Amino acid sequence: MRKPIIAGNWKMNKTVAEARDLVGQILRELGDFQGVDVVLCPPFTALASVSEALTGSLVDLGAQNMHAQGAGAYTGEIGAPMLRELFCHYVILGHSERRILFGETDEIVNEKVKSAQSANLQPIVCVGETMEERDSGSMAEIVERQVRESLRGLPEEAFSGLILAYEPVWAIGTGRTATPEQAQEAHALIRSVIGSLVGESVADFVRIQYGGSVKAENAADLFSQQDIDGGLIGGASLDVRSFVEIVKVGAR
Ligand code: PEP
Repeated sequence: MRKPIIAGNWKMNKTVAEARDLVGQILRELGDFQGVDVVLCPPFTALASVSEALTGSLVDLGAQNMHAQGAGAYTGEIGAPMLRELFCHYVILGHSERRILFGETDEIVNEKVKSAQSANLQPIVCVGETMEERDSGSMAEIVERQVRESLRGLPEEAFSGLILAYEPVWAIGTGRTATPEQAQEAHALIRSVIGSLVGESVADFVRIQYGGSVKAENAADLFSQQDIDGGLIGGASLDVRSFVEIVKVGAR
């Protein structure tokens, strides 16, 4: 019913030359594939060349962040229309590295979501708790608040095409993965929160990715969970074999 979506978040890695090389290898290794959407999110500086390399392929382009305003006096920032011009279809918003290292609040994420959608960019909205929050028993409260606040005020039609990513902060780049059961529990919670906002039938179509140390070896167990619709892949997306293997698992 929901097509899985696998996105590679390259973070602050790859020069333009390296990015061209990586995308070329990924496209060669992937060949034709079906049953899964694939998105590559290189750094801003490599978007144009990766976009060119993806022309005519089945792989989509995404950005890792954007400013809530489309244009203006925001030195060092990039607006949604600039990303659309480079044929970006997706943008990662509210990644925990943005929230923790750059002070992004749910309110800022909410403004960005609205700005992205008004420019025809599909947001991948990241939510997830820290280890301390999980240990103190507040995972559900934190995740629910992030979902509600990040999506506040969106009309029902804004949920079609919207993607969420559950990324427990303690599993990002740490080699620690949520167990399939822990991930499923959080995904089911996210879907029920969306259901309470816009109704179950709409929530049933919203794709929710899992992110946090996904590798070829653990992808099958995670992706087979009922409410997990693919993954947001960090470290492993920089390794051609691993990323392609994860996509193939997602397509099964
Ligand atoms: C991420 O940064 O979104 C992520 C999931 O990273 P990693 O796969 O490296 O944990």
